[in-house]
Amino acid sequence: MKSHRVGRATLVSGVVTTVYRAVTTFTCVQCAGTIAPGVLFSRQTRRTPTGALGVTTTDPVCVTCRPLRLDDAGNAVDS
Ligand SMILES: [Zn+2]
Repeated sequence: MKSHRVGRATLVSGVVTTVYRAVTTFTCVQCAGTIAPGVLFSRQTRRTPTGALGVTTTDPVCVTCRPLRLDDAGNAVDS
């Protein structure tokens, strides 16, 4: 997966997640929209039961589907 880890952010649900910056184009798993290079996004963990072993995959989700509030990326959060 070609992306850089940027930092942590809080979702509107209050859950803290890891934020990534796309290096190549990704497709959002929720809206099938394009996540362009340079754009921030988060990943959604999905567990697929496969026999006795579960396989965990992470799918990119765009900020439109999952708005992010950066915690520690050095940017002002709220004024
Ligand atoms: Zn989306």
